[in-house]
Amino acid sequence: MNRRIISKSVAGISPSATESTSFLANQLKRQGIDVISFAQGEPDFDTPDNIKEAAIEAIKTGFTKYTDVPGILELRKAVVDKFKRENGIIYDVDQIVISNGGKQALYEVFRTICEEGDQVLIPTPCYVSYTEQIKLTGAEPIFFNTKEENNFRPTFEEVVENITPKVKAFIINSPNNPTGAVFEKEELEKIAKFLSERGIYIITDEVYEHLIYDGKKHISTASLGKKEKEMSITVNSVSKTYAMTGWRVGYAAGPHEIIKAMINLQGHATGNINSIAQKATIEALNGTQKPVGTMVKEYKKRREYMVKRLNGIEGIKCNYPDGAFYTFPNVTALYGKEYSGNIIRNDMDIAKYFLEKAHVAVVPGVAFNYSGYVRFVFAKSIEEIKEGLDRIEVAINELK
Ligand code: PMP
Repeated sequence: MNRRIISKSVAGISPSATESTSFLANQLKRQGIDVISFAQGEPDFDTPDNIKEAAIEAIKTGFTKYTDVPGILELRKAVVDKFKRENGIIYDVDQIVISNGGKQALYEVFRTICEEGDQVLIPTPCYVSYTEQIKLTGAEPIFFNTKEENNFRPTFEEVVENITPKVKAFIINSPNNPTGAVFEKEELEKIAKFLSERGIYIITDEVYEHLIYDGKKHISTASLGKKEKEMSITVNSVSKTYAMTGWRVGYAAGPHEIIKAMINLQGHATGNINSIAQKATIEALNGTQKPVGTMVKEYKKRREYMVKRLNGIEGIKCNYPDGAFYTFPNVTALYGKEYSGNIIRNDMDIAKYFLEKAHVAVVPGVAFNYSGYVRFVFAKSIEEIKEGLDRIEVAINELK
C-alpha cells in the first residue's frame, strides 16, 4: 500500500518565512559574517528584573509541578484584572485560558471554532501564522488587501465587500504585524457592530497593544458592547509588552463555551504551560509597569530614526507605523534595477540582495501576503539601525 508519510494537512503547511529569513541570517553569522538582522520580531530588551525574581522564587519554593490546565487561579485572576483595568472588559476566570504564547492561543481558537466549509477573513498584510493555522483546521483563509494610503488600516467598506456567507470569523490585529497599523475607534465600532450582528466571530490579536505611539489608543472590540463582547475572542500575550518572548505565555478570553472547549483541547495537547512562567507572568501583570513605559519610549525614538532614514534612501518610501515595532516600506521603485546581471523583480529579490550584498536581513512582504514591501524590525539599538541602513544605502546606490 502506498501510504504517505506526512499527512496531507501538515504537508500543506508553508514554513514560516520570518523564521526562514532568520535562519539564513544565522547561517551567514555562523560563517563569521557580521549580519545585521531586522528580521526577528522580538524586543532586544531583557525581561525586567522583578519578573525574573518572581520566577526564581517559584523555583526556590518548589513551584515546579503540573498546574490546572487553563493556568493557576491567581494568574487567571491577574488576567481578569488586567482586562478590567486596561481594556474595560469584565470577564470571569472561567473565560480565560493561559496558553503557550499567543501563538498557541490563536491555534486553539481556530481549531475550536473553524472546520471544513468555513472561511476566515483576514486583512493583509497579516501575521504569517494565521494562514497556516487556519488551513490546518480544514477551513479556508480568505484575504483582502488594505491600502498603503490608509496606512494599512482595514476600512468598514472593505470588510463589508469581502464578507461571504461562509465567513465564520474575522481577524483583527491592531497594532498590526507587519505594518503597525492601529484601528481608529469609529471604524472599529462600525466593523465590530456589523460583524457581531451577523454572528461572525471577531478574533482580535492584541499582542502589541502597549506598543503604540503618538497618543493613539488601543481599543478592544470586546469593550464596545454586549453583542461585540459575545462575538469577540481576545488573544494576548506577555511576549512583546514585557520582553518575554522566550517564556511562552499567552492567553485568550471569550465566551464560556468556546474557552471551555479550548481548555479541553489544550488539556490533551500540551496541558498547563510552564508553572514557573505562570508565576513570572503574575508579577508582569500585577507588578510595576514602569519598564513597559521605558521600552515604549525607546521604541518611539528608534521608529523616528528608522522612518526618517528609510525615506532618505532613494527607492524606499516608508509610512509612519502607529504601533508595534515594525516598518513596512514600499520598495517597488527598486524593481527593474540590476546587479551582477540579475534583475530585481520582487520583494524577495530585494530581501535576497540586502542579505547577500549588505549582510542585512529583512523579511519580504510576500511572507505577509503583500508584495512590493519589506519588513524591518526597529526593536534594535539606534547604532545597529544606523549601521544596517548605512549598508542598505550603499547597496542600493550600487544598483543600476
Ligand atoms: N500575533 C502576532 C501578530 C505576532 O506578531 C506574534 C509573534 N510574532 C504572535 C501573535 C505570537 O506571539 P507569542 O506566541 O510569542 O505570544
